[in-house]
Amino acid sequence: MSQKLGQHFLQDKRVLEAASEAAAIKPKDTVVEIGPGHGELTEYLLSAEPRRLLLIEKDKRLAEALAEILAEPSKKGTVKIIEGDALRIIPMLPVKEKLADGEYKIVGNIPYYITGRLLREISELKNKPSLVILTIQKEVAERLTAKEPETNLLAASVRFWSEPKILRIVNAGAFKPAPKVDSALVLLKTKTAGGKIDSETYYRLLRRLFRQPRKTIFNNLSAGAGKEERDKIKTTMEDLEISPSLRPQALSVEKIIELARVFHQGK
Ligand code: SAM
Repeated sequence: MSQKLGQHFLQDKRVLEAASEAAAIKPKDTVVEIGPGHGELTEYLLSAEPRRLLLIEKDKRLAEALAEILAEPSKKGTVKIIEGDALRIIPMLPVKEKLADGEYKIVGNIPYYITGRLLREISELKNKPSLVILTIQKEVAERLTAKEPETNLLAASVRFWSEPKILRIVNAGAFKPAPKVDSALVLLKTKTAGGKIDSETYYRLLRRLFRQPRKTIFNNLSAGAGKEERDKIKTTMEDLEISPSLRPQALSVEKIIELARVFHQGK
């Protein structure tokens, strides 16, 4: 058992069932599971008979053992085990495995240490999965699903491409060995940004906006700007009906998009 790889195995059948059910697997779907471990969740995903199941496991020993478990004739042809780091494999997946837009789903009871990076990699995918279901640290799940007026950089980042939702809280005791903190099962349903803006423009503005989250939007946007530029920023904010004294956590994704269009589009 490797502490470094976040190996805490889910024992609670209700949570495994809930994760598999939320994936709403249809016959033609491809399901990508991150960190299958001994196949705890895989078993439930397979019972939904997805056309293709891709398992990405970093631990060589577990990947090999899983290959044996899944070698039964009834399961052949539907499962592919990819041994390696999901953070490196996910960015190449849509091309390498010929996954078309909206035809695949990502699920996983993932090790806590990859949560932030994994979400970033998914957010940068051109062909995004239609949904993502993850078991992550409860506190991170709460931050991820926060909304204005209490939003944050992480929530505003994922809300650009998805609707995040906590499906259930998972107590630490549901895992073996138990981690130090509770977890949550989260669903991120992919949405289109409405074609209003490209992601690079949005994320550029977002980083600027949350440079110092406790400062006002105006202070963050005008950091380092001269008088003329500051006046321009103030006028733009007034035009968009955003009070200069507000803090970035008060902004909805729609308002952030409006700001990004004015400040960064085409620049
Ligand atoms: N799916 C099993 C379950 O639900 O009980 C195991 C979950 S355990 C929390 C996380 C799994 O992810 C482990 O099997 C671990 O070896 C694997 N893992 C850790 N880092 C990984 C990475 N970067 N890429 C792919 N798998 C990883």
